[in-house]
Amino acid sequence: MSDWIEKEKCQFCGKQAKRFMFAAFVCESEECLEEARKERGGPGGHQAKKWALEKE
Ligand SMILES: [Zn+2]
Repeated sequence: MSDWIEKEKCQFCGKQAKRFMFAAFVCESEECLEEARKERGGPGGHQAKKWALEKE
């Protein structure tokens, strides 16, 4: 795990951030990840596609 992210909070629920996705800090919650994805502007690029595939 990277240390730098432990200082950050999820931008949607305020919990400890676990990852930086779609230009936002998010926790482990898939709902927050989804919020980040929506804020970014919806599907676009292989990152969003990859995530959609993993969710199946
Ligand atoms: Zn969150």
